[in-house]
Amino acid sequence: MSHLLLTFVAVAAVFQPPDAAAAVKIVTSIPDFAQIAREIGGERVETVSLVQPTQDPHFVDARPSFAVDLADADLLIYAGAELEAGWLPPLIRTADNARIQPGATGHLNVAAVVPLKDVPTGAVDRSQGDVHPQGNPHTWTDPRNGLRVAVAITQRLKAIDPDGSDAYESGLRDFARRLGDRMTEWKELLKPFAGTKVIVYHPSWVYFLEWAGFEEVGTIEPLPGVPPSDSDVVALVEAQAGAGVRLVVGESFHPSDRIEFVADGLSARALVLPVMTGADGCTTSIDLIDHLVREVVQALP
Ligand SMILES: [Zn+2]
Repeated sequence: MSHLLLTFVAVAAVFQPPDAAAAVKIVTSIPDFAQIAREIGGERVETVSLVQPTQDPHFVDARPSFAVDLADADLLIYAGAELEAGWLPPLIRTADNARIQPGATGHLNVAAVVPLKDVPTGAVDRSQGDVHPQGNPHTWTDPRNGLRVAVAITQRLKAIDPDGSDAYESGLRDFARRLGDRMTEWKELLKPFAGTKVIVYHPSWVYFLEWAGFEEVGTIEPLPGVPPSDSDVVALVEAQAGAGVRLVVGESFHPSDRIEFVADGLSARALVLPVMTGADGCTTSIDLIDHLVREVVQALP
């Protein structure tokens, strides 16, 4: 090989065409979607999630970095159904990034690709609470929805980065196989507790509890997003007395005194559970479901 050719090969190795090495830049609201996107995309994707795993995703203070991340994104993934209604839409509008505007391939609203629970019938207004006027947006705690999201992310990634189609299909197959194996295992663990009655502070686990075969019989919040008064919690305990409630569940940012008051009043176990990947050592979305399954099973006598 001539000296000139060697020089050319060396230069070509350093100066890759820009799109050959470029990752698809993905911004997600909650970390769960970012983690699933990495399962599918591997090294072809870069992810940023805007919400911290122990933060209430309904109420997030937008930081200046959010606008920078969104301006640069190829794909935006968010829960939708107004989970992020209080802070994300203005950021999308002002991002000046056509790739992630509603209707674009890079705009993935998870509520549009999974079946929503608690969808109000009739006119949509705030009578269903301050934060769930279109139904329950906390869809990601049902592992079947994790798979639906993975399929939707794969479709979008293939459209945005066709050269990676084989890699994305392979990532999806691998994720689906591992998730399927774990779902079988989790269902075995949960089987003896079918029908367990649970009260939650906020309906963050509706999807998990229904998949797990549990029955959510009440919420400590009188309506989603509305903090309970003293008389609300007393009335809840009176209404559920003798009903056989065994677990009262809240998140780390919910008021523990309300949760413990209701649990004590009903002789039930109080349990603080995470609801997002990244909390409590749950590195992956599969870890999160595994953690939820094991925590509820251990809490039940
Ligand atoms: Zn909510």
